[in-house]
Amino acid sequence: MKKDRQVFDNVLQLIGKTPLIKLNKMTEGFKGEFYAKVEAFNPGHSSKDRIALHIIEEAERKGILNPGDTIIETTSGNTGFSIAMVSIVKGYKCILAVSSKSSPDKIDMLRSMGAQVYVCPANVKADDSRSYYEVAKRLHKETEGSIYINQYFNDLNLDAHYQSTGPEIWEQTEGKITHLIACSGTGGTISGIAKYLKEQNQEVKVIGVDAYGSVLKKYHETREFDEKEIYPYRIEGLGKNLIPTATNFDLIDKFVKVSDEESAHMARKISKTEGLFVGYTSGAAMQALKQLEEEGEFKAGDRVVVIFPDHGSRYMSKVYSDKWMEDQGFFDNEKISAEKIQYI
Ligand code: PMP
Repeated sequence: MKKDRQVFDNVLQLIGKTPLIKLNKMTEGFKGEFYAKVEAFNPGHSSKDRIALHIIEEAERKGILNPGDTIIETTSGNTGFSIAMVSIVKGYKCILAVSSKSSPDKIDMLRSMGAQVYVCPANVKADDSRSYYEVAKRLHKETEGSIYINQYFNDLNLDAHYQSTGPEIWEQTEGKITHLIACSGTGGTISGIAKYLKEQNQEVKVIGVDAYGSVLKKYHETREFDEKEIYPYRIEGLGKNLIPTATNFDLIDKFVKVSDEESAHMARKISKTEGLFVGYTSGAAMQALKQLEEEGEFKAGDRVVVIFPDHGSRYMSKVYSDKWMEDQGFFDNEKISAEKIQYI
């Protein structure tokens, strides 16, 4: 391994150590300095590479994962891709149980990385034997030498970020970070980073980003699960309809809710102004930052870090499709309409 010469034994050695990139045009006129931790620089193009590698290597260390064994998870998203990538390099089989709502593109992407994919009906209850949760649990039980990652209820998810993302941010800001803004899905990213940062400096303010239609913000404020908060929304990977144990709510100072529409426009704007092609939840995190600025959260001298979790290429048929934006009604009453393609 010759990391100094950028020569690596395999792609997994490139996981982590992602850059912190200053936001310039997006934050013009705001008080403070703003930096994005751009997780798309991971080889699997998202922060989930970190948890896939960490959870799998912990299982190896504990001796519960041996060559040729099987790794199981229930996701068609970033985590599935990262687990498939780590499995390929390390020689494990990867089984992903996904919902029939997953796009054919996503399923093809996972299969391209060697995963065996089970497509399960989306319109059944979580405890139905055909749901992707139940299918994953059954396959785990039936497959000798298998582990079930279960990212929403796995403490190693938080631990991955406590051990890597947190220390990286502390070092990159030379300990001068004042605010962390991060989306919360499983809550592993925000809780793991928060744990590390608050151990270094209690004063660092940690702000979670939640979606309208998710229970996280209300739960944080009341410690009660309020079903009335739950309704369908479009942003994937942000918010939840259950309370994940991978989230440590005590480490989060407050939550901000963002809308599907503003987050989508914000993602497109980041690409067009900063040249950073980022995913939907990066738009959500940036939207939260803007709302916080408007509320007077920041002052001159503050150093704010916002997490951009993944790459824009995963959203070509959504946020970066003008047709999709139009179908959602996101171009209605629009100031920022799409620039039309010129056909010659
Ligand atoms: N953004 C995207 C695109 C994601 O897939 C996820 C993970 N569900 C998150 C943000 C939130 O990260 P975490 O699960 O660590 O809270």
